[in-house]
Amino acid sequence: MVIQRPKGTQDIIPGTIKRWHFLETQIRKICSEFGYQEIRTPIFEATELFQRGVGETTDIVNKEMYTFLDKGQRSITLRPEGTASVCRAYVENKFYAQPQPVKLYYLGPMFRYENTQAGRYRQFHQFGAEVLGAQDPLVDAEVIHLIWEFYRRIGLKGLEVHLNSVGCPVCRTEQRSQLQYYLQERKSDLCLDCQDRFEKNPMRILDCKNKGCQALTVDVPTTLDTLCEECKEHFAKVQQALRDCGIEYRINPKMVRGLDYYQRTAFEVMAEGIGAQSAICGGGRYDGLVEEIGGPSTPGIGFAMGIERILAVLDKQKVAIDNDQENKVLIAALGAQARQEGFKILSELRQDGVSALMDLMGRGLKSQMKYADREGVRYVLILGDEELAKDAIIVRDMRLGDQSEISRGAIKKYLLKNMKNSKYLL
Ligand code: ATP
Ligand code: MG
Repeated sequence: MVIQRPKGTQDIIPGTIKRWHFLETQIRKICSEFGYQEIRTPIFEATELFQRGVGETTDIVNKEMYTFLDKGQRSITLRPEGTASVCRAYVENKFYAQPQPVKLYYLGPMFRYENTQAGRYRQFHQFGAEVLGAQDPLVDAEVIHLIWEFYRRIGLKGLEVHLNSVGCPVCRTEQRSQLQYYLQERKSDLCLDCQDRFEKNPMRILDCKNKGCQALTVDVPTTLDTLCEECKEHFAKVQQALRDCGIEYRINPKMVRGLDYYQRTAFEVMAEGIGAQSAICGGGRYDGLVEEIGGPSTPGIGFAMGIERILAVLDKQKVAIDNDQENKVLIAALGAQARQEGFKILSELRQDGVSALMDLMGRGLKSQMKYADREGVRYVLILGDEELAKDAIIVRDMRLGDQSEISRGAIKKYLLKNMKNSKYLL
């Protein structure tokens, strides 16, 4: 029997990899411009990190983790998200002793045991960023600005930023009692998970995907109704700064997000046209998290976005991605002697950094031209016995459709001159 890849995973194959490279390049560029440094943490961590750092009442920890005992009987989990690991690394590497804030980004695979469907996988990829050590509302705005600017650059349209403040531990006490008071009589109509959440973390009920629970919570008091004065002021300043950078947002007082540790600012970005899994980015402030996992009290804020979902929106919106392939060269050599000489030219061009190919299947000229087309080659260098005898070569410009004969020694000069003038090199 043929062995297939595990459910919920994908092969990223030549063809689609171009789109990944495009996004990865844009991610690294914008992060470096905004002053974020890359961090690479392990793919697996001690299970306890996520239990404490994501929260025992979340779906991620309760239902979705890939957890196993290793041969030393340690409980290990494949990382389901990036924030807990970044905070662990912040503490473990004593980043708190460096000038603050510390601004980090990551890019890589995450693992969640989910019901797979379009846009929901078991191995998926996230780009995320975190700012640790700063409480200023301008930081919240900077983080959302980075996301907004990234989407603008890659050409996404029709996005909506949903914004909320979920308050701090002070507001939380009031929130809890208001919510419990309001839902008391309808408790038995909630789903079993939410009945459990009612005691442990009633705010989670607002995040339930069950339609029945959603109907029961239509007019519950929201987190905005119970903000303390300091949280109110913080939220107002975040909004002012967002308006100052020209970011359009919508207040969504029911959005509480999936992680236990959020405080104050919470946000999500939704995209049109990709079906039910329309959240392409989520994030928020998590001022208690670093302390929760054993570090000094440190404010933090960050986001994570799903690369697969961004690619789905790019496809849906038919955003063209120019990967600058057009300066490629193909050497079409015909006959044994020409092939030998062609291979020499090939290696010379490669040493000069020219992206060059040669047919290695001994095909005829016509199918070599097809090969050139398929590979997106701009210049074909044709070399047969006749050209060999004259120490010359034919250059065919595939885009303009014309060709000319030049001397063997003039190839490099010709390519440099013409490639420089190509609009693709600008
Ligand atoms: P959802 O409500 O869709 O389950 P979430 O709240 O679990 O999302 P986060 O943990 O905030 O998502 O992750 C941030 C982003 O990562 C999401 O907005 C989404 O784009 C992406 N993402 C999350 N889970 C998956 C998955 N299983 N497959 C693909 N992308 C995902
Ligand atoms: Mg989820």
